[in-house]
Amino acid sequence: MNKMFDTVILGGGPAGLSAAIYSSRSACSTAIIDTCILGGQPSNYLELENYPGFSRIGGFELMEKFEEHVDMFGVQKLVMQEIEFIDLKSNPKIIKTKEHTIEAKTVIIATGAKPSKLGVPGEKEFLGRGVSYCAVCDGGFYKDKVIAVVGGGNSALEEAHYLTKFAAKVYLIHRRDSFRADKIVQERVLQNPKIEFISDTVVEKIMGEELVNGIVLKNLKTGASGVLPVEGIFPYIGITPNVEFISGQLNQDASGFILTDETMQTSLPGVFAVGDVRHTPLRQVITAAADGAVGAVYAAKYLETLAQVPV
Ligand code: NAP
Repeated sequence: MNKMFDTVILGGGPAGLSAAIYSSRSACSTAIIDTCILGGQPSNYLELENYPGFSRIGGFELMEKFEEHVDMFGVQKLVMQEIEFIDLKSNPKIIKTKEHTIEAKTVIIATGAKPSKLGVPGEKEFLGRGVSYCAVCDGGFYKDKVIAVVGGGNSALEEAHYLTKFAAKVYLIHRRDSFRADKIVQERVLQNPKIEFISDTVVEKIMGEELVNGIVLKNLKTGASGVLPVEGIFPYIGITPNVEFISGQLNQDASGFILTDETMQTSLPGVFAVGDVRHTPLRQVITAAADGAVGAVYAAKYLETLAQVPV
C-alpha cells in the first residue's frame, strides 16, 4: 500500500465520502480511514426524506450509493482502523493506526459525532439492557412494550415516531414545552396516538434489575418527581464530536466542535474539518456532503501552494 498520500480523510460518513470523491477527481492521491465500515451515522437512519433527488431513501442505501461512487475513483479505503497517533503540525502529517503509518500532505477530518449521554445513574449500567441510542438497531426488541425517548430535536421526534412501529406506547420526555425539531416532524409526532409528550421534565435516574423497569423523572417547573415504569429508554439529546484523537492540536468551540473558516480550513494549514465534527449551524447529510466538497477542493488548492514552494 502507498504510505504517502496527497490527502487523507479521517471518517467515512457523508462528509468524508463526498470529500473523497472531490479529492480524487482533483487528481489528488486519496485515502479514507474509518474506525468502522464506511457510511457513518446516516447508515443507522431508517429513512431520509430531505436528501435532494430522493424523496424517500433508506440511510444505509444512500450511504452505499456514496461508497459506490467513491469506488469509481481509486480511493484507498482503510476501514476498522482506530487512530492511535496523529501529528497534524508536521509536514507531511503523520497518522498511525495499529496496522499502518501513513503520511499525508493534507488531512480532512470528517469523524462526525456520537450521541450525547444523559449522565444519570443507570445509563451506563443498563446500556444494551434497556438503554439504547439506536432505534433502528434496537427498536425490534421493544415490541408491545412501554418505552421512553428523551429530547426535543429532530432525532428524538423522528425516532419516537419510528419506535411506535414496535412499542405499545412511547413517552416523549423533553426538558422544555416546545421542540426544536422541524415543524413537519412535530406535526407527525403530535398526531401519533401512541406518543405521549411529557414536557418540562428531565430524567434523573434509570432503574431496573436485570433489565430497565423504570425511570425517575423530575418536573422542572413544579419540582415534583416520581417513577415512570418503562422497559426501555432512548436518549436523543444531541451529539458530541469525535475529536479525542486531535488532543488539542486544533482550535475548537466550547463543546469541542472544530472551528473552521468558510473553506473548511482549521487553525492549522493543510488541515480541514468537514461535516458534523465542525462548528456549523446545520447538521444534515446534505450539508455534510457539501462541506466535504468544499474541504476537498480547498485541500487541493493548498497542495498547489506546496508545489510552488522553491526547494
Ligand atoms: P439537537 O437538535 O441538538 O437536539 C437535542 C435535544 O436534546 C434538544 O431538544 C435539547 O433540548 C435536548 N437536550 C440536550 N441536552 C439535554 C440534556 N442533558 N437533558 C435533556 N435534554 C437535553 O440534537 P439531535 O436531535 O440529535 O440532532 C443533531 C443534529 O442532527 C441537528 O442539527 C438535527 O437537525 C440533525 N438531524 C437532522 C435530521 C433530519 O433532518 N432528518 C434527523 C436527525 C438529526 P433544548 O431544545 O432545550 O436545548
